[in-house]
Amino acid sequence: MPPPVATGTALYAQVLVNVTARTLQDRIFTYLIPEEFHAVARIGQPVLVPFGAQTDLTGFIVDLGDTYEGRFKLREITDILDEQPLFDAEYYDFIRWVSDYYATPIPQVLDVALPANLVQKARKVVFAGANLTDPMAVRKVQHEKNGRKALELVEFLYQNTSSLDEPLSGKGYTPKYLAGKLRLPTKAINQLLARLRALGLVTVETELRAKTAIKTIRKVFSRPEAETAEKLTARQREIVAYLRDKPEGVPVQQVVAELGTTPETLKRLESLGALRLEEVQSVRDPLSLYRQLQEHTHFKLSAYQQAAMDAVICGDNSAPYLLYGITGSGKTEVYMSLARHMLENGQSVLVMVPEIALTSQIARRFIAHFGSENIALWHSNLSDGEKADTWQKLNNGELKILIGARSAVWAPMKRLGLIMIDEEHESSYKQDSPAPRYNAKTLAMELARRTGARLLLGSATPEVAVFYEAKAGKRILHLPERFGGRQLAKVSIVDMKRERAQGNRNQLSRALDEELLRNLETGEQSIILLNRRGFYTTIQCTTCDYIFMCPDCDVAVTFHRTRNMVCCHYCGHEGERPQYCPVCAGMELSHSGVGTQRIEDELVRKFPEARVLRLDSDVMQRKHAHREIFEAFSAGEGDILIGTQIVAKGLDVGNVTLVGVVSADSAFALPDYKSAERGFQLLTQVAGRAGRGDKPGRVVIQAVQTQHMVLLHTEKQDYDGFYEEEIQQRETLGFPPFSQLFRFIVSCENEKKGQQFIQAAALHLRESFGQAGLEQQIQLMGPAPCVLPRIQARYRFHLLVKSFAGEPARQVVADFYRQTLSGSALPEDINFILDIDAQSLL
Ligand code: ADP
Ligand code: ZN
Repeated sequence: MPPPVATGTALYAQVLVNVTARTLQDRIFTYLIPEEFHAVARIGQPVLVPFGAQTDLTGFIVDLGDTYEGRFKLREITDILDEQPLFDAEYYDFIRWVSDYYATPIPQVLDVALPANLVQKARKVVFAGANLTDPMAVRKVQHEKNGRKALELVEFLYQNTSSLDEPLSGKGYTPKYLAGKLRLPTKAINQLLARLRALGLVTVETELRAKTAIKTIRKVFSRPEAETAEKLTARQREIVAYLRDKPEGVPVQQVVAELGTTPETLKRLESLGALRLEEVQSVRDPLSLYRQLQEHTHFKLSAYQQAAMDAVICGDNSAPYLLYGITGSGKTEVYMSLARHMLENGQSVLVMVPEIALTSQIARRFIAHFGSENIALWHSNLSDGEKADTWQKLNNGELKILIGARSAVWAPMKRLGLIMIDEEHESSYKQDSPAPRYNAKTLAMELARRTGARLLLGSATPEVAVFYEAKAGKRILHLPERFGGRQLAKVSIVDMKRERAQGNRNQLSRALDEELLRNLETGEQSIILLNRRGFYTTIQCTTCDYIFMCPDCDVAVTFHRTRNMVCCHYCGHEGERPQYCPVCAGMELSHSGVGTQRIEDELVRKFPEARVLRLDSDVMQRKHAHREIFEAFSAGEGDILIGTQIVAKGLDVGNVTLVGVVSADSAFALPDYKSAERGFQLLTQVAGRAGRGDKPGRVVIQAVQTQHMVLLHTEKQDYDGFYEEEIQQRETLGFPPFSQLFRFIVSCENEKKGQQFIQAAALHLRESFGQAGLEQQIQLMGPAPCVLPRIQARYRFHLLVKSFAGEPARQVVADFYRQTLSGSALPEDINFILDIDAQSLL
């Protein structure tokens, strides 16, 4: 007799079936839940279902119900792959919001949100259960349907489980294997297993978790009762003494490393009865690295810090707060105090950092403060098992602090009280591909809205749009003072026009030469940043270094060698390659950038005794090259480090007192509306590499447009001044935050076809805006070839939409995109991408 259906169990499930189709439809279908799964089915479980002619497609249960009103004969769910749900109904609702906002089908969103392999590797395995040797339990199944098979299975597990106390540490058996062994059909084995589980005769786990849950390590324990001291050598006594006050034991590896002994020595001591070796379960601990860190001293917050903290705690959560303060002003201390407050309230905290969390200073300090056992890190080096483990611990609410990069925003946090995003201006918070091309800040805002959590963004050089909103909402929390009285570096700008006029044809100015020499003499270190132009080519006058701009858009034009044309990639304006410079009438125009290699050669020629390290994309091809070079430089094994943008980030070397920037102009002359903002942020950041120790720092910036506002404000290290000027420019040109930007990108092997497609798309889109009555609040720019006009043999075109209409316009854009993708109008060989809130227009 089947067990009665318990109340609250569901009969039908809505399953999001993971069919790969090119259309944007979300495949959600109703399935019958077979009896054996009635009691366990939950939203968020991965399942196997039949679909069309296919038998085992994966999918997720996204809703449950007791009734079905449709007319179709329903099919049954084949199997539940993991009974522990990966998400709950609220989470799924958030995923749906993302899917809608970014016009990306739900399965694709889930693909990005859930850690890879969490589902694919969720293979169910059967282990012995706690009651396997209980005759009462065994007797119960014996007389039911398939009772003989049940006995056979119990006997098999009994024979093949090495330790009934630790069944999960042994080998598990898939239901499929057992079905073969017992010669039962799938359905029957599932029913049988459900029954055996109810009686505690078997345990079913997913392999991923079973594997990670029971990792063991060998530990050494002291034996306080042992009286062997006089028999031991001094060296052996040292080991015993070391273990004496460590009742929880010490991993063998650690003893070996710290005392410089060997495992053999430890074994000998065990045989002498002086200590005890034992395999113990280890809670896997990706943070063990930080175990030795010092407990962080606890400061009394400054008045500014306290005010910031109070504002976040007492204020409303209708919009983000901006913690605005230079490096050293105490932002991290505020983050930690806030986190502590939230934990005391029983709420959890999500901390986002731009780079992988392991290398982040914030991660280190949080761990030192809260202890590694209370913090989860989310980063790309986690193994599948570790990810699965962390995911479930967050999902269960066991872990309350998560630190991670962009993708941490997808974590299934429970009772979320606070999201903090450090260095919020960093472009790594936006995902370029694959879809959804989300911005973690946008998602964090939505999460905060849904959960009531507060959102705190922190930066020394905030994103202009963020600063604008925070200012308007009076939500800027300013930390104006630096702790420890460390001075900001002194910035000087060298005019390369004058340098050239005076006959210096080298890449390095005489001023920078002098400073480098001074550092070589005093043994201090220097960094030279060559701001890479990127893959596109701008045209520059070699006499006055003027960079050619689009007459309409005020962005640099790009030179296309093959056609000998210049092109604006905003508006599509095209022209012949210019013959002379409009500023100085010089005829020598260059369209090639300077490489780090050339600067390195120059350094070697000028300072033959200097030890020069180079870090650019060529060097980075080598695995670990980046870290090796950083480490060598930090260890003082180089006098001068030269490199591209990468040297601006993360280096914290006290002995670096000089930073030089070569061709700073290209930092703000990119064909992109955010180029001034990014340029200012980059120059400020690299300036911050100098003078981190006791000695003050100097920064020498070589540029041509010395009167460019980015340079003037960088010289004074004046964000506010920069902001005021930039925001006016944005308002005049109608760029964000005064508008919303959408970018359509088409790529196709056939140039003509791609072009025709995007032209037709532009036309249709304009019509859609017309129908919605939004024409007046919309500006279409282009279509035009992309700055990178051909990638991997595909021609690329883009179309920009500047919208002043808010949400209704976003809906028109998203609907248009969905319809185009699912309609018949989209040819096979066209790739059509939509980037909502586009950040980069290259
Ligand atoms: P940021 O994150 O803005 O760079 P930090 O929080 O790291 O700033 O603070 C800079 C330095 O000042 C750190 O060494 C920190 O320990 C110290 N510090 C921060 N807050 C205080 C305080 N309230 N009292 C004393 N020292 C502090
Ligand atoms: Zn233009």
